[in-house]
Amino acid sequence: MSGKLFLVGTPIGNLSDISPRTAETLAMVDFIAAEDTRVTRKLLSHLDLHKPLISYYEHNRRESAERILPRLLAGENGALVSDAGMPAISDPGEELVKLCAENGVEVITIPGPCALICALAASGLPTQRFAFEGFLAVSGRNRWARLDELRTEPRTLVLYEAPHKLIKTLTDLLKYLGDRDVALCRELTKVHEEVRRTTLSAALAYYEHEPPRGEFVLVIRGAPETQDPETTLEDGLELVAVYRSEGISLREAARRVAAETGLPKNLLYSQSLGREDR
Ligand code: SAM
Repeated sequence: MSGKLFLVGTPIGNLSDISPRTAETLAMVDFIAAEDTRVTRKLLSHLDLHKPLISYYEHNRRESAERILPRLLAGENGALVSDAGMPAISDPGEELVKLCAENGVEVITIPGPCALICALAASGLPTQRFAFEGFLAVSGRNRWARLDELRTEPRTLVLYEAPHKLIKTLTDLLKYLGDRDVALCRELTKVHEEVRRTTLSAALAYYEHEPPRGEFVLVIRGAPETQDPETTLEDGLELVAVYRSEGISLREAARRVAAETGLPKNLLYSQSLGREDR
């Protein structure tokens, strides 16, 4: 019978956040797959544990998975940990979970801290619906396309960012999203933990004078709901036709008009398709 893969959340700064279940699981498994074995060794030494470690990080994840899967299939239990927080969340793990699922290996989560959830909870912004974006692409088309998409996203946005890229990201967010409320959640669970609830423009002005230090999660207010009660479906369809006359695909035209008017995208798409087919 196969063993199990345990996805073990580890502290994002404060070792007291190690739960009894985390410690028991790490003590019980036969091996631990770790993003950085040096970081995990420190955690294990804090728990006074000695376990075989397998390196599993972004650039060796395929070869490493080829070593991990046979061991699980042979009946060993393994844990996957990242340097901090939940594995597979802006950290390696997603592919290993998929591989286990495809091969009938049970995956068990051992929940631990997760920076995005801690930041969202502390942000003071709406938490009921949110969109987690991880890290924005550093540059190029992917970055601009994603920022453009976020412009009209009504859900609260959550982003990870490194301190040396914070000013560039705040500048781009301000440019694309306009001046919105933002909570900059820094060094969560650590000595210098801080939640700065402000606006994108004020945050930018602040960090231009006070170089950002530590780890950040940005929680940003979503776009205002744009549904204008005066905008009829007919108005929306006319707008789609205008975009179409500019050479924009029907799918994209429907997406834009939906974002601009709050009208349902599928309805705009299907009705416009019907008109174009006539
Ligand atoms: N898997 C992790 C999790 O569950 O949160 C995220 C790993 S991701 C590679 C690292 C990013 O998470 C950092 O760049 C930062 O944006 C955020 N982060 C991690 N620890 C944090 C902390 N203590 N305070 C604020 N942000 C943190």
